[in-house]
This record gives sequence, structure tokens and C-alpha cells, in this order.
Amino acid sequence: MRTEKLYYDYFSANPYNAEIMEIRYTGEQKAALVLDKSIFYPEGGGQSADLGSIQGAALLDVREEGEEIFHIVSAEDARRLKPGPAECLLDLRRRRDYTVCHTAQHLLSGTILRITGKATVSMRLGEQICTIDVDSPVLSGETLLAAEDAVMDAIEENHSVIIHLCPPEDISRFPLRKAPPKEEDAIRVVEIEGNDFSPCCGTHCTSTGQIGILCILGAEKYKGMTRVSFIAGRRCLEESRLLRKNALIASRVFRAPIYETGEAALIQLEKSVRLERRLGELEETIAENEAIPLAAGADRAGTAIIVKSYRDKGMEELLRIGRAAQKKNESLYVLASETDLKFAAFTRDKSRDLKALFGKKMESLGGRGGGGNGFFQGLFGNAGDLAAFMESLQEGETE
Ligand SMILES: [Zn+2]
Repeated sequence: MRTEKLYYDYFSANPYNAEIMEIRYTGEQKAALVLDKSIFYPEGGGQSADLGSIQGAALLDVREEGEEIFHIVSAEDARRLKPGPAECLLDLRRRRDYTVCHTAQHLLSGTILRITGKATVSMRLGEQICTIDVDSPVLSGETLLAAEDAVMDAIEENHSVIIHLCPPEDISRFPLRKAPPKEEDAIRVVEIEGNDFSPCCGTHCTSTGQIGILCILGAEKYKGMTRVSFIAGRRCLEESRLLRKNALIASRVFRAPIYETGEAALIQLEKSVRLERRLGELEETIAENEAIPLAAGADRAGTAIIVKSYRDKGMEELLRIGRAAQKKNESLYVLASETDLKFAAFTRDKSRDLKALFGKKMESLGGRGGGGNGFFQGLFGNAGDLAAFMESLQEGETE
């Protein structure tokens, strides 16, 4: 049966009484309610469906199929309902949000077309961010700022938004921004007075002032075009609150006025880069100093195995010490970190196969690891196994 469409004119949080004509179960989880008349916008034209409730059942989606509008609810909710009168409640905040974003999109697309001559090819009204794809490989920052300002002018000038229902044969009287749909009895043309004419089936404000504000968030290249992201209306307020919350934290951290936190963050970043560089230099110096007594244990031929366990040094530090030590002579250094339960073996003599030397013993004591000529490292499950492995090396069992 045909559902009478009331959603274009119904912008209210007040309950509306409709009639449930039919309940169709569309699977185990969901059911579609068919009403005699609907205040709920069905998904279409780039705009998401309205939400709300019908006789207490939460709406999950609204879809238009042919002449009918299906109001999707959970099968569990549907089982509590029966055909007859039903109270419909519209989620007005959500409807207004999409209506504002949709009207803002027309205004932005029309404005970019007027300023640059470039058309909008497609658009999406997301839950958080809206985007349009403009048929231009690049849009400069200045162009986007100019578009944003021109849109704000149009919002402040509060132009009327007029809906025309036009038979297809007369459609040429409107300077449409995009091609009208085919095979429709009456084409719905949305006019923003003095700005834009666009065929569209979505919900729209009645004047541009209701948009309140539009903010362009950025632009990126997309398939040879430019994808411009934006928010409008209350979303700008929500974003402003979020940005302020973050800026206040940054302001406290950097001890800078809220509008200078970006600059303060850059100065802090430069400072930490310098400190990190200095820290790296100091760590190398420390490793170098640790390596001196270690290398002193080498015999003249430089073939000794120098074994040492460290109680409170991590493996990262031992790798630095080992690299510094192997520069000093041909000895083989085996250094273990008791905190990390790891060891590493180093020698600059690349002809020594360290896997052959340590692999089997390490595995027999429960360790895992790998390496080859000149370098080998391993990990043990507990301190006792690592200690046993290191002791076995000191006893010279590997030789
Ligand atoms: Zn529209």
C-alpha cells in the first residue's frame, strides 16, 4: 500500500498518531512496519534515515521501496505491536542535524561552483563529518577560505530556501547545478534564493539562517578530484567545545595562552629533539666507558670469550656496550641482561659462526634465539636458566 509522506513538512518532537497497516517480518532479527502516513525520512539522496520510535519500538532504519516506506524495528519489539493506531516520535535533534548539513552542502557546492567553475560530483553526510567531491584536481587554501566566507555571508543574509515541484518537461526553466533524476512525475528542485538550484529529495532548512555556521575542515586529493570535508550547525559548536577542551590541556602542559598552544608545542618539540640527540650522545659515551674495562680482559691474540652478566641494565644498553667493545679487539663478548632475561654475543671477526657455538647449548637450557656470523642473541624463560647458560660459558664449555 502507498504510504503518505509527511516528513518534508513535519519538523517536531511532538508525537504524531499514524496507523500501523502491516507488520512484515524480514528475517529473524528485524521487522518492517508499514504505516498509512510517515513522518520519518527514508534514507536517500545522500541523507541518512530519520530515527525515533513507533509505539515505543525504536526505529533502526527507514527505507523507501516503490510506493511503500518500511520502518525497520527489531523483531522482538515488533512482536509487542499490532496493526492499528501508533504514536510516532521523531528524533528531532538528528533530523535537524542532517537537514542543516544537507542545506549547507547545497550552499557550499553552489558557492564553490560560482567561485571556481568546478562542480560537485558526489557528497556524503556522515554521522560526524560531511564531504563533497569537487571535480578539480586542486583547490587552494585561499579558495576554500573564500568559499567558507561566501557561505557565511549567505547564511547571515538568511536567503529563503524554496522547494519547487516541476514536471520533467518544464525542468529547463531552472538553471540546475546537476542533472535531474529520470522517470519521475515531478522533479523536486531545491532553490537557495540567489545561490543555487539543485534537484534533491532530502530534507532542507526553510532559510539559510537556520544553518547557523559552516566550517570547512580540510581538503584532500581523491581520484583526480578534491574531497572537501565540512561540518555545519551544532556540529561546529560540538567541535569547538572539543577543541577548547584539548587546547586547555595543551595550555596547561605548555604553560602558554590557549591561542598560542600550537607555537608552544612546536618549540617544545624542537627542545625534545635536541634533548634526545644529546641523550643519544651521552648514552654512547657511557657505553664507551663501560666497554673499556670489558675489552681490557682480552688476551693478546684476542680470541678469549669475555662473559658478563648485568643485574640492572636492559638489553638496549648492552647492545650499545657490545658494539663499542667489539671495536676494540677481536674478542668474543657475551653480555647478559638479568632484567630482560636476554643475552647477546658480539665479535667483529665475521668468520666465527656464533650459531654453531651457542645454539645447541642455549636450546638445551631452555632458551630461544638466533643469529649467525659475528652476532647471536637469545632469550630465557627464567633467571636460573640464563645464569646456568652464562656460567657454562665461563667454564669454557663451548670451546
Ligand atoms: Zn538536498
